[in-house]
Amino acid sequence: MLVVKSEPFDSWFRSAWRLSLGKLPGKPSTELLDVTEAQKRLLDYFSPLPVVKVHVSRSIGRVLADSVIAEVDLPSFPNSSMDGFAVHVFDVMKANPEQPVMLRVVADVPAGQITDIQLGSGQAIRIMTGAPIPENAEAVVPVEDTDINQRIPGIAAPEWVKVFRPIQIGENIRPAGLDVRSGEAVIRKGSRIRPQEVGLLSMLGVGQVSVHRKPRVAIFSTGNELLLVDDPLSPGKIHDSNTYMLVSLIEQYGCEPINLGIVPDEPEAVKACLDKALSDAVDLILSSAGVSVGAFDFVRSVVEQNGELDFWRVNMRPGKPLAFGHYNDVPYVGLPGNPVSAFVGFEVFVRPALLKLQGLHNLTHTFRWVQLAEKILSDGRESYLRAEVSEQKDTLVARLTGHQGSGNLRSLVQANALLIIPSGVKTLNAGTFVKAWLLGETL
Ligand code: AMP
Ligand code: MG
Repeated sequence: MLVVKSEPFDSWFRSAWRLSLGKLPGKPSTELLDVTEAQKRLLDYFSPLPVVKVHVSRSIGRVLADSVIAEVDLPSFPNSSMDGFAVHVFDVMKANPEQPVMLRVVADVPAGQITDIQLGSGQAIRIMTGAPIPENAEAVVPVEDTDINQRIPGIAAPEWVKVFRPIQIGENIRPAGLDVRSGEAVIRKGSRIRPQEVGLLSMLGVGQVSVHRKPRVAIFSTGNELLLVDDPLSPGKIHDSNTYMLVSLIEQYGCEPINLGIVPDEPEAVKACLDKALSDAVDLILSSAGVSVGAFDFVRSVVEQNGELDFWRVNMRPGKPLAFGHYNDVPYVGLPGNPVSAFVGFEVFVRPALLKLQGLHNLTHTFRWVQLAEKILSDGRESYLRAEVSEQKDTLVARLTGHQGSGNLRSLVQANALLIIPSGVKTLNAGTFVKAWLLGETL
């Protein structure tokens, strides 16, 4: 059977169009797109940004562009895991608390120093944690198992030590390569660098780290009703909540926000703002509001004058009026104006795009199965409901928080999870298990 796939032609056509920076003929999709289809279309436009080098001291939160291959063993030399005395096991074979074995202390090795003194029979070398094991020593007797169990800084090594117990070969010695062998791949490309990766990179002596360039994301909010947070309220006006919330999300997901502020509902002002975003060389333009069907919703048409919209309606709740396309050759996402819709639209569409730009492997939220504490009604669209999830007898139980209207940020603040109600579902009884994203996940 011959299967004709429209996708390769479609993507060829789009890239040809993008090269010419022209306007795609025809209208964007006016259908209500399924969330998964819309996510796929959007993600297809993004690929990981170029590789740059950063110093390990500034690498936290960045994404590795190359796998890290160890060039040294870790530890790189055998060393002591205890403060104690390096010995030959034969010498202390018969040691016990009643009849300790006396050994002559012939050297003292603090961390950071080496000794070329060889252990002779009946001898011991005092050694500190992390210090290199003298060449022919077989084990380290901890100070606790000797009569020199003092912890006084600076105290000189004794002439003699009494050992109270026998010891096995290799005891309290960390051999070279115990943790990592030279040549091993130790951190996978596409991993987000956490504090523990910073530690391991440092331990390996990797000063310059290859990471993907940080995405630069322009953000502006449209609306004649919007006031800056520091302005006093006046009749008919509201404080702009979306700009700083979206700036925070952009930062939370490891990107650099370029805050273009509040823009009035005027086509010229919107165009000027979009052009400013272009001159700021951003990787993505985000806006909030003005993409619905209201009389002042100019943003979509302004974007279309110098670009193309792929879609502008998604079958989800909250967040139906969500536009995606290009302004010139820069990807553009128009989030809804209602704050909860903007938040959910960001989590569902913008987050995976930002993660893909950064070169991360895993673009999806991790989810948990949670049990509904009460019956839920949905309207058949894929819904993201604010809920508080708590652990009750080994089960995660979810209860909706407050009013689920898309303008109510309070119930989002009270929530620690978004429940995902699949499309086509209208009633879910108490006790049903649904998928949930736990909020606050940053990786
Ligand atoms: P719109 O998408 O422009 O129709 O806006 C939808 C709703 O979101 C309206 O109630 C707006 O007042 C509100 N809204 C738009 N932008 C913001 C914003 N930046 N902060 C808070 N609310 C907003
Ligand atoms: Mg508006």
